[in-house]
Amino acid sequence: MIWLDHLKRITARTTTRLASVGLGLGVASLVGIFSVPPLAAKEAAFERALASIEAADLTRHGALLSLDELKGRDGGSEGEKLAAFYIASEFRRLGLKPGGLDGTYFQPFTTRKKLESNNVIGLLPGTDPELKNEYIVVGGHYDHIGVNREGEICNGADDNASGSSAVLEVAEAFLLHPPRRSVLFMAFGAEEQGLLGSAHYCAHPIYPLAQTVAMVNLDMIGRSKDDYLFIGGAGTSPVFRPLIEELNQQFDFNLEIKNGGGAPSDNMQFFLRGIPVLFLFTGIHPDYNQPSDDWNRINLAGLEKIARFAFSAAMHLANRDERPEFVRDSDFALPDAMIEEMGGRRRGR
Ligand SMILES: [Zn+2]
Repeated sequence: MIWLDHLKRITARTTTRLASVGLGLGVASLVGIFSVPPLAAKEAAFERALASIEAADLTRHGALLSLDELKGRDGGSEGEKLAAFYIASEFRRLGLKPGGLDGTYFQPFTTRKKLESNNVIGLLPGTDPELKNEYIVVGGHYDHIGVNREGEICNGADDNASGSSAVLEVAEAFLLHPPRRSVLFMAFGAEEQGLLGSAHYCAHPIYPLAQTVAMVNLDMIGRSKDDYLFIGGAGTSPVFRPLIEELNQQFDFNLEIKNGGGAPSDNMQFFLRGIPVLFLFTGIHPDYNQPSDDWNRINLAGLEKIARFAFSAAMHLANRDERPEFVRDSDFALPDAMIEEMGGRRRGR
C-alpha cells in the first residue's frame, strides 16, 4: 500500500513537462495544415497516426511486461503493480490525462485475497463540444496468472501483454489524431481471477456508462496465423458488421466473426451493462497459461496489423455522427476451434 502511494506521487509529478512537449507538437501540426488542403491534411494525419503503431514499439512494451521480474503479474501482486506503474507512466509520457481516481491513472480495488489491484485509465478528451461527453473504451487486461504449481513463472506474453501493449500503441496513435468523442484507455487488473478489474470499473464507473457508447477489448491478439483474427460481439450493434467488412477490404484478415457479447474476458462486463462490444482475439494455443507463453513466440507483424485494425475501428466509432445502438445478443462468442477443443476436454478426450 505504501509502495502504491509512492507510485501515485511519481506519476502526478511530470505532467507539466509533457504540456510543453504538447505545445511544440501543436505548432508543428498547424504549419502542416496551412500548407495543404484541410481534407488531405486530415487523411494524412490519420495515415501518420496509423503508421505510428509499430511492431518495434509493441515489443518494447510487451517484452517488458512479460519479463520474469514481474513474476507473471498475478492480480494483487508486486509484479502486477510494476506492470500497472509501467502502463501509467507510458500513458503520462504519451500525454493522456489521468483517467482514474484523485487525479491519478489508477482505480484501486480489492481482490478476493484482500490484496490491492488497480485498473489503469488514461483519458483523451474529444474535440467535439457535444460528442466529447460520450466515451469509447479501448481496453485489455494486463495481469496474468503468476507462478504455476511447479513454481515456474508464467509470463503471459500473449495473455495479455499483447493486448496491453496494443492499448498503449493505439493510445499513441489516437493522440496524433484526436477524434470527436472522448476515448478511455483502460488496462484492467485481476482479469484472470474472474474479470475483477472490469467488474469493479462497471460497478463503480468513473465516466457515466450511459454515455459510454462502445468498448473494444484486446485479449490475446499475439498468435495470429495466416492472418487469422477472431472478432466477437459483432451482433451487439448493427453498425459493427458493415464497419468490420469495410475495414477488412484494406486489412484483408482471415476473419472469424461471431455476434454475441458474451466472452470469458473483460468485454463481458461492459456488454452486461448494455454497451456494444468488440472482442479481438487470435485464439487458444499450446502455450496458453503455460510458462512457455513468452514474447519470442508472438507474431509481431500480426500483432501490429491487429492493433492498427483496432485503432481504425475505434477511430470510426469515435468520429461517427450517431452513437452505435445496442443489441442484446447474449451468445457466448468464441472461435469454433476453441469450442470444439473444450467439448473434447469435457468428454475426456
Ligand atoms: Zn486474457
